[in-house]
Amino acid sequence: MRTSAPATQKGEKVIVDLERKWVIHAKCSGAPVKAFFCGKGYKPLQTPGPETQRTWNKAKVMCLGCPVINECARDSLGEQDGVWGGMDPVQRREARGLHSRYVRVLSGERKVEYAALAASLKRRYSSWEDVARIIGVGIPTARYLVDWHAAHLAEQDASPVTGLGKPESVPRKKVGRQHGTKAA
Ligand code: SF4
Repeated sequence: MRTSAPATQKGEKVIVDLERKWVIHAKCSGAPVKAFFCGKGYKPLQTPGPETQRTWNKAKVMCLGCPVINECARDSLGEQDGVWGGMDPVQRREARGLHSRYVRVLSGERKVEYAALAASLKRRYSSWEDVARIIGVGIPTARYLVDWHAAHLAEQDASPVTGLGKPESVPRKKVGRQHGTKAA
């Protein structure tokens, strides 16, 4: 039976669900982790061999019937290995490139939301790798967002009209998950 998808307000644009509440609906809950990863781990930029490709293809079939495939794909864009949200590492790398370009050309409040999230994550986790992984962009774009946020705040301080770009609070717990596990 198909599980109902997590409640997301219609039209709501979530950058990333840091708590990954949707994991309780994951079709792979209870599935062996190895079903989603090739044996020795995939090295970025490496051409996948036939065995790796077979593992990925089988995992993608499971993802296709998953009610949270969109949420999983969104929140796992920065993962380097394994199949998540119906995408393998090669596909995610391409998607991250597109996402990074999208983020850079954004304007208005949406840009401020991304930048404030990046700045908040940087303060919490300090590593650029974590900021980029969680948002699902390249490290240069993560740095760009944090710099953009600092410049935006400086601009706000210098302007008589303020109100945008205050950093949002990010839970301190480690953001991450594993296949076959439910949300903590
Ligand atoms: S990896 Fe993501 S999309 Fe695939 S089955 Fe698990 S939760 Fe669903």
